[in-house]
Amino acid sequence: MAMGFDEILERLVRGTWVSPDTGTHVEIPINRAYVRPFLIKDAARLINSLSIGSTVAIVSDRNGHREIARQLENSLRGVISFTSLVLPTDVEPTMEYVEELRKKTFHSDAVIAVGSGTLNDIVKYTTYLEKKPYLLFGTAPSMNGYVSSTASLIESGKKRSFSAHLPYAVYMDSAIMAQAPLRLVQSGFGDLICRSTSQKDWYLSHALLGTEYLEGPYSLLTPHEEKLHEQAEAIAKCDTHAVEDLTYNLLLSGIGMYISQSSAPASQGEHILTHYMELQMAKDRHQPGKPLKYYHDPNNERVQGPLHGEAIAVTTLAMCRLQERILNKEKLRLKKEFITDEMILKHFGAGHGQQILKEVSKKMMTEERLASVNAILEEKWPQIRSQLEKMHIGYDQLLQTVEAAGLPTKFKEIGWSEERAETAFAMARFMRDRFTFLDVAALMEA
Ligand SMILES: [Zn+2]
Repeated sequence: MAMGFDEILERLVRGTWVSPDTGTHVEIPINRAYVRPFLIKDAARLINSLSIGSTVAIVSDRNGHREIARQLENSLRGVISFTSLVLPTDVEPTMEYVEELRKKTFHSDAVIAVGSGTLNDIVKYTTYLEKKPYLLFGTAPSMNGYVSSTASLIESGKKRSFSAHLPYAVYMDSAIMAQAPLRLVQSGFGDLICRSTSQKDWYLSHALLGTEYLEGPYSLLTPHEEKLHEQAEAIAKCDTHAVEDLTYNLLLSGIGMYISQSSAPASQGEHILTHYMELQMAKDRHQPGKPLKYYHDPNNERVQGPLHGEAIAVTTLAMCRLQERILNKEKLRLKKEFITDEMILKHFGAGHGQQILKEVSKKMMTEERLASVNAILEEKWPQIRSQLEKMHIGYDQLLQTVEAAGLPTKFKEIGWSEERAETAFAMARFMRDRFTFLDVAALMEA
């Protein structure tokens, strides 16, 4: 029987989980991780048990998280000394906020973040610079990045990713998660639906180009996946139990990326397509001097566009269909890259184009690489194909699951024209050095 979620989490935080790739124990810097209902009522005892000092700062924002922070304050009152800091509505993840927070939390031994991605990024980076424990109190099961060690922040008007640390402890109150706006819950489900497509892409690159591939991240997820997919309809109703399972899965997906030291296990062709579309949509509404926001925040009506997981649901289905078409082939042979450097520069613009050419040089089908890939395909395609089939979920089944969760399934539902989607299939593959079925589809011989 598969290990229960609590047992897996317990092993991971204690460092007794054994990686199927190395056969050795894996250490993660998270010291505690809990997913359960009404955790917030027990917060004082849980935080006291960490021995992290005597005062904490609670950071929330005005985007609907203030009420949850208040519940947390009520639990801590009289037991743990705390200060409460409230960031403004629609806070931008700028270095100014990081500096402000460093000053305001100077006398606190640890900082608890209660809120969304942006707020977490600010708290994560602040505590990283101050070498203080960062405690995470999740508010919505909207994505798998809660436990990532990087913070996405704006410095001198430019958004980029900064190295930071993982939360010292993660508290996910499933009763609170189930109260999150429905679209955020669905988005979390959408971000997990790509397990099968990413795994096939990552494995294919390993088989054909010899890049790294790990089973570990998937061994955390696949034993629970069938049940998760069966819960799609319950997710669409924000059922507490289904949302709890979803939260566990998101946490494990995030930990899988930490173990791989890369987003690779959970971000391949479907994410590349999404990133390409984001880039195009951002270009559409780019206003000079204003930092770009790509996703629609249900609490912020000013920002247009799909949520991350909504877009991923659609691009995952598209990748699944494309992979299925290729998996049906008895024989597979690739041809030389036909898109030239000039075409890339023209499509992406000179500045970004140069960056792209550098990025993709590792996977470009040079003649030498092509000969090696075709030799592997000639000899091993049947074996590679049967491995891939074990990771595959059929398109019809996946479509049913996505529909049951109430997520979008078509490009036009997330604001992308068919024409643009077609261009994405041809050009998105140049945005990352990851070799995926997008490359195979573009380069395969008829
Ligand atoms: Zn994602």
